[in-house]
Amino acid sequence: MTSSISASALAVLALSACATNPVTGGREFTLMSEAQEIQMGQQSDPEVRAQMGVYPDQALQQYVEGVGMRLAKASQRPDLPWHFSVVDVPAVNAFALPGGYIYITRGLMAHLDSEAEMASVLGHEIGHVTARHSARAYTRAASVGIGAAVTSVFFPSAEPYAAAAQTGLGVVFLKYDRNQEVQSDRLGAEYVAKVGWAPSGMSGVLETLGRISAAADRRGVPNWLSTHPMPEDRVVKVAETVQTLEATRAASEWTVNRDPYWQRINGLIFGDNPREGVVRGREFIHPELRFRVRFPEGWTIENGKQQVAAAPPGVSDVTIVLELVPNPSGSTLEDVAVRSMEKAGFVRLRGEATKLNGLPAYLGVYEGQIENAGIVRVQAAYISYERQMYLLAGVVSRSRHLQYQQLFDDTLRSFAPISTQDAARIKPNRLAFTTVRSGDTWQGVAGRTGGLIPATELAVLNGFAANSQPPVGQRIKIVIASE
Ligand SMILES: [Zn+2]
Repeated sequence: MTSSISASALAVLALSACATNPVTGGREFTLMSEAQEIQMGQQSDPEVRAQMGVYPDQALQQYVEGVGMRLAKASQRPDLPWHFSVVDVPAVNAFALPGGYIYITRGLMAHLDSEAEMASVLGHEIGHVTARHSARAYTRAASVGIGAAVTSVFFPSAEPYAAAAQTGLGVVFLKYDRNQEVQSDRLGAEYVAKVGWAPSGMSGVLETLGRISAAADRRGVPNWLSTHPMPEDRVVKVAETVQTLEATRAASEWTVNRDPYWQRINGLIFGDNPREGVVRGREFIHPELRFRVRFPEGWTIENGKQQVAAAPPGVSDVTIVLELVPNPSGSTLEDVAVRSMEKAGFVRLRGEATKLNGLPAYLGVYEGQIENAGIVRVQAAYISYERQMYLLAGVVSRSRHLQYQQLFDDTLRSFAPISTQDAARIKPNRLAFTTVRSGDTWQGVAGRTGGLIPATELAVLNGFAANSQPPVGQRIKIVIASE
């Protein structure tokens, strides 16, 4: 590991250069020339697209590209090879790579209220590129040796993005500092206003993003708050810029395009894409790999890129994880199980070869030590199914194992194949609209539309505070199951 860090440090030194900041005009130390910036973006872009997936809607992609290009042409760096893509990710975020590659997630698209708001997000990301924040963030990361982090074998990763950081994705998850955020807000609002979109879109975006929980982490992609720090004064700071910009035209001259934007996002996939497994109630179902697992009642299930993890609410030292075992080695299931657990530092206490819903499996209990957690018990099933090997395991401190033994066992034994017909029935949830009736609450609307997302999320999706009332007669976004 040491040698890889020094190698990357050398590579970084070789790239060192002084350059003029395109936004401020000042000279600054940066490790990248513009050509290197572009090359960096070009190199990482295919990886981002492969890892996150490109949202399969050509019309929507072209729409976002069109809005983005107009903004980019209005920026200080119109000649960069700008690219704009909607990535197939449920998390709410937008990213920029050096050189002009901008990504917006479908999760964020769903939360925006108008074209002016979408333009504000793209403008903000363009600002990170034009002001060379993304180049500098990359420089900083490279000099501390990003990618050197090693993920644990299967335990709930203390560092959920460590796996992503090992690939090109780490680059887009780099955190900006507060000043860079404030500067990008201002730059974004300026680009947006220059083209003619209402600069107030930036305020709307920041308010909505401020309501989204910082904790939400889905599919290995952090949300906006984790990568774009949100000091409380950001909304206030950009408000001054917005007011100044707004005064430059009559109110009626600004383009908001709310209805056209809603038409564009009608039917947008919301939440998990069945391609990567879905959470339905307490079940995790993978229609492509054709299996399901039923987790304990009331537990929170996180469908991550590397693993599915479930935990009781408010409890941090108990979890059940599900993941694929890469390159299993061993002549029998028992052999694979004991060997891979040993490799992770766990000793078998007991175990038995068995069948789970017709599938060959090895159930075992192991003991070992986890950093910061002390001695833990792992109750695990290694399951062989359709040329894949799955690991489904409950993890808990040794002293509390007895308390969870039965729940773990029930969950492990719930791993079952599903039929192709059942798999075909799993469809993604989608964005749709409804009109608020008199007497409606967010709770009520969430309930009558199938309860697919909690009332608080529904409020935030519509740009309202969770404790507000939906305004009667107003059209709102809802989440429904595909037919
Ligand atoms: Zn930002």
